[in-house]
Amino acid sequence: MNPFSYTRPHDVSTAVDELLAIEPNGNPAPAKFIAGGTNLIDLMKENVERPVKLVDINRLPLTTIEELEDGGLRLGALATNADTAYHPLVEQRYPLLSETILAGASAQLRNMATNGGNLFQRTRCYYFYDTSMPCNKRNTGPSEGPSGCGALGGYNRIHAILGTEASDGNVHCIATHPSDMAVALAALDATIRVTGPNGDRTIPIADFHRLPGDRPQQDNTLQHGEIVTAIDLPPKGFPDYHIYLKLRDRASYAFAIVSVAAALELDGDTITDARIALGGVAHMPWRKPEAEDLLIGKPATKETFALAAEALLESAQGYGHNTFKIELAKRAIVRALGQAAKLEPTE
Ligand SMILES: Cc1cc2nc3c(=O)[nH]c(=O)nc-3n(C[C@H](O)[C@H](O)[C@H](O)COP(=O)(O)OP(=O)(O)OC[C@H]3O[C@@H](n4cnc5c(N)ncnc54)[C@H](O)[C@@H]3O)c2cc1C
Ligand code: SF4
Repeated sequence: MNPFSYTRPHDVSTAVDELLAIEPNGNPAPAKFIAGGTNLIDLMKENVERPVKLVDINRLPLTTIEELEDGGLRLGALATNADTAYHPLVEQRYPLLSETILAGASAQLRNMATNGGNLFQRTRCYYFYDTSMPCNKRNTGPSEGPSGCGALGGYNRIHAILGTEASDGNVHCIATHPSDMAVALAALDATIRVTGPNGDRTIPIADFHRLPGDRPQQDNTLQHGEIVTAIDLPPKGFPDYHIYLKLRDRASYAFAIVSVAAALELDGDTITDARIALGGVAHMPWRKPEAEDLLIGKPATKETFALAAEALLESAQGYGHNTFKIELAKRAIVRALGQAAKLEPTE
């Protein structure tokens, strides 16, 4: 691990100033915020992240979970994943989110991991963690190891099948985003609240993470110096008909190969609203509103669900070891929607 300085501010604006502080040589310091540290410390130990300064944000007043006037809920960026999942209002009104968080990591990790940090966790691509291997996501200069993508011609079982092509038709990165929580937030249409050198702004979750395109180094749309302060949930939480189906190599303590956050509203057996977000298949949680629209006004049957599954996977592309995910994802969507509609048992 490289040497770094450490600071622990008590308010948000000081934290932003500390991150943006200029080094004596005039260059912006490669500083990082640190929250629970469950991802960043691992990356520093592996020499993948090499900040010269850590801005510890754990003393910032961002731990509360509070009701909003519009009937929604605000989750503090520094509330832990455990405190969020077990919060009575989250359990009652957003059980999809609660169950999704509890499907991730382990109890110990969830006690440390924060809501903000969960959004920023980096891909689990093996080649990204191995600095001797080529990686376009890790590579931001000559000191970062060889460029290229180790996964494209390598072992890519856990990699993406959707949204991998850049605008020029080339593929530079097939990493997936590993967060479970972000998949439920995508299904629920959450909004990310951010503060930075240019003031406050909100970002719909659909615009927060990004596809790799020709800049795979960039995981999200945050500007340098911006900090996530909270995540807002809209009033609609789909408490009656929902499921987070996570398919993985072990029953616990493993990242998703494919996951589905499904939420429905039903009038009798007719679908009146539907949300489907996929994890483990792309550089960001994957939604396709046109696929969800196919369900509206239709009976909740396997045949209807299969239409949405086909539409969601329409542009999917396998890279060899991960091609099985295309069929797996379709079947997972049909099963998840069936479970959300209570047509089949959850286990
Ligand atoms: C063994 C293991 C298994 C895991 N399994 C799963 C799993 O199954 N599913 C899953 O979803 N996750 C899993 N995780 C990942 C875990 O959920 C994340 O590591 C955790 O959520 C990160 O939160 P943190 O607070 O520790 O972030 P940190 O490690 O402190 O920070 C991560 C990144 O976020 C940035 N950051 C943190 N907070 C903010 C903020 N408020 N504003 C701006 N930037 C910020 C930091 O600068 C850093 O770049 C696993 C982790 C481990 C180690
Ligand atoms: S898939 Fe992305 S993260 Fe993995 S090696 Fe290729 S460029 Fe790097």
